[in-house]
Amino acid sequence: MTTTLVTPTSVAPDVFLQEAIDLAVTNISEGGRPFGAVVVKYGRVISRGVNEINLSNDPTAHAEMQAVRAASQVLQSPLLEGCTVYASGHPCPMCLAAMRMAGISEVTYAFTNREAEPYGLSTAAIYEELGMTTSLRHLRLVHVPPEITGQHPYEAWANARGIPATAFS
Ligand SMILES: [Zn+2]
Repeated sequence: MTTTLVTPTSVAPDVFLQEAIDLAVTNISEGGRPFGAVVVKYGRVISRGVNEINLSNDPTAHAEMQAVRAASQVLQSPLLEGCTVYASGHPCPMCLAAMRMAGISEVTYAFTNREAEPYGLSTAAIYEELGMTTSLRHLRLVHVPPEITGQHPYEAWANARGIPATAFS
């Protein structure tokens, strides 16, 4: 990490959002889908991402995921607290969850799912499905309680860290 990353600046949020939109447009000529995102910390862009699912055959290579992955490499941490994401489109549930789990505090986006819908680029249906009971979702979620024959992975993890499992209850 360079010292420039920790120097606060006062760049208007619109500038970051416009950069995300510009990335989305540029990505089309690269053969990608029209999505871009930047991660900002201390008023500076620390990483950028574009949708590369077709180029990389990676269904998780959404713009926000790419930008988040890159930000974690820049900061050398899986936690991105204090970071803000600017995305060209409304984040999908996968990206939203990833950003939430990374501790990102705010996401600003430009185009709504309603605006994306006519182009087949909306993820509103997935949000709707996640709000349904498990049995109504397209993706079956099957719970099979395991018979533990070896170590329980969670207990092993707690033991490895020297934390008794009771500390979590
Ligand atoms: Zn996404």
